[in-house]
Formats: sequence, C-alpha cells, structure tokens
Amino acid sequence: MAAGAEAGAVGIGMAGTGGRNGLEFFGNREILMSWSPEQTHQIVEQFWESIGVRCPDDNGPLRLKLRKFRGGDYDLLAACPVCGKRKELRRADDPHRRRFRRWTIGEVQRVSESVARIGSALCPVCGAPIDWQAAPGLLLLRCFRCGNSNSWQHVYTPN
Ligand SMILES: [Zn+2]
Ligand SMILES: [Zn+2]
Repeated sequence: MAAGAEAGAVGIGMAGTGGRNGLEFFGNREILMSWSPEQTHQIVEQFWESIGVRCPDDNGPLRLKLRKFRGGDYDLLAACPVCGKRKELRRADDPHRRRFRRWTIGEVQRVSESVARIGSALCPVCGAPIDWQAAPGLLLLRCFRCGNSNSWQHVYTPN
C-alpha cells in the first residue's frame, strides 16, 4: 500500500496549519529534492568530525541516524527539518574515501594500547573514534568511517 501512504502525505500538506516554514510538508517534498554531491560530502565529513551537522542550504540542524552493519558498512540517514531534504549516505559519499587504506600491524598495536590505557583511540587512517569491544583474550577494534577492523581484514583482500 505504498501508493496510499504517498497520498496520505500529500493530504497532510493540503490540510496545512497555516505555517509557512515548510515543516508540515516534511515527508512529501523529500521525494523531489536532494543535496548535491558536494553538499553530501560536506555532511558526511562534518558527521565524522563530530561537528554539529547543519543543512548546507539553510543551516538547519540535521537529524542524523547512523546504522552500523555487521561486516563494517554503514549508512547514515540525514534529514533536514527546515527544507525537508533527506538522503541516505554511505562510505562512498565520504570525501576522504580515497585515502582509506587498511590498518598496518603497527597501527593496530598502537590503537590497542591506547584503548587499554585510556579507553579510547582515534583511527590512524581517518581520525574517527574507534569502536571497541573487549572479550576475554580479545580486543575487537572497528572503525566504521573507513571500514577497518582487526577482525574484518578479509574485506581488504588484495587483488
Ligand atoms: Zn535544509
Ligand atoms: Zn577509520
């Protein structure tokens, strides 16, 4: 019943509450507009730099939802409450993706030491905070921004 849902969204817009800021149209305008690739890159970068992420068009505070997938991929749903644009972003939208490479053994060791000592570490490749989980005899390290892990290395099998 996808068609019915779409008609419902239009109905909300037509009912209108007199507001002129576009908020009541959130949900149907999203289909018509999206950010440019450059703006998309900016949003991904700001998200991972942990800067408050704002809409490149109207400076509205974006609502962001990160989903982390088993295996190391992610998607980031960004939505602007002001203009109603929304988009699902992925690692391929990251402006630094060409610099992403596999962690070296030395880097894995340094990250492990930092986590053991102070409970946190930044990724030596992309600078994002490391996700980690400790289990007996094992420290699982993961970086969702660039897709590194000390247990996902099969992802980076050389050609
Ligand atoms: Zn906006
Ligand atoms: Zn990283």
